[in-house]
Amino acid sequence: MSDDSLWDVVIIGGGPAGLAAALSAARDRYRTLVLEKNGLPGGQIMLTDRVENYPGIVKIGGFELIEEQKKQATSFGAEIAANQACTSLARRDDGILDVEVNGGEKTHQARAVILAPGSDYRRLGVAGEDEMRQATRVSYCATCDGAFYRDKHVLCVGGGNTAVEDTIYLATRFCKKVTIIHRRKEFRAQEVLVEELYKAAGEHDIDVKLPYVVEEIVANADKTDLDHVLIKNVEAGQVEQLKVDGVFIFVGMNPNTGFLKGAVTIDDAGYIACDPVTLKTSMPGVFVAGDCRQLAAMQLATACADGVVAAMGLKSHYRDPAGWEKKAPGDSPAQGW
Ligand SMILES: Cc1cc2nc3c(=O)[nH]c(=O)nc-3n(C[C@H](O)[C@H](O)[C@H](O)COP(=O)(O)OP(=O)(O)OC[C@H]3O[C@@H](n4cnc5c(N)ncnc54)[C@H](O)[C@@H]3O)c2cc1C
Repeated sequence: MSDDSLWDVVIIGGGPAGLAAALSAARDRYRTLVLEKNGLPGGQIMLTDRVENYPGIVKIGGFELIEEQKKQATSFGAEIAANQACTSLARRDDGILDVEVNGGEKTHQARAVILAPGSDYRRLGVAGEDEMRQATRVSYCATCDGAFYRDKHVLCVGGGNTAVEDTIYLATRFCKKVTIIHRRKEFRAQEVLVEELYKAAGEHDIDVKLPYVVEEIVANADKTDLDHVLIKNVEAGQVEQLKVDGVFIFVGMNPNTGFLKGAVTIDDAGYIACDPVTLKTSMPGVFVAGDCRQLAAMQLATACADGVVAAMGLKSHYRDPAGWEKKAPGDSPAQGW
């Protein structure tokens, strides 16, 4: 890392949103630092080797895509620091932002901050889950991976809106059969979605099993593929073996925003509140981008787009640091801030 003087912008999180923000900011010649808590920047997309919905790239692995993003951002002068977890954020009276890392090991000063710490998919925590995620047979995102299960049988796990909605999506667009299980006797999802699910089950091969939980996700003999899933009827206690080609787990997300409590406004679910057009947060000088923000679309392309929008907001903030609350008609990306 270069000298410790004031950064124009410190970006917290080295995933797709943070790296896209770094590219835009550094290309605008702002002194840019990306802080990444892991040893290897890249975020969630590093967990997959097949991305097919990033515009302009037919197919790419997450790792390769991130390598290109890093190369592009650093070629314009952005600095990326790994093993640097931001642990707190505060604003001084003079408007400078203090970004503390690793519990006080160091504090960076910045004129602006872009928050991009992402969200993690909640895991079931059952045996075989991680192993089969690596083998790309366990997924947490129907939009990302549904197309890989054309004419296949998949198991969906969960009872909320996403679980019900994405079961319908998978069954009506791609899969030969979808089994959905939920640990309670009733879904948590909105009634209208549940009605839609049962209507779809009349027209497509959807098997609804309640109340069931996953006991284990079992690999084949050489551990390269999924063999079957063991599911348990919670009331009867009986375990069944289900032969499926893939497992979709929809049990929620955890935004990585705990370190920001008390600094910026965070909603009850843990997402960072922001103006959805400018991506400004409640703290002057602090923008947000990607999966950690309210109303995020939770996709690679939208995370990158957020990074660009947040970085484009820097210019008007530097021009008028006192005007954080103002949203003039000219303050829109289409009009080139
Ligand atoms: C297995 C898998 C496959 C996917 N496939 C697709 C796909 O095919 N297409 C698609 O559009 N989307 C896909 N997604 C979703 C996509 O990866 C996310 O929408 C995207 O990565 C969000 O980017 P982000 O930068 O907002 O957050 P993240 O990718 O989560 O990155 C956040 C980064 O911030 C770091 N961080 C967190 N807290 C701190 C802190 N306190 N200090 C410093 N750093 C911190 C994290 O370590 C992480 O590197 C997939 C996700 C997964 C898990």
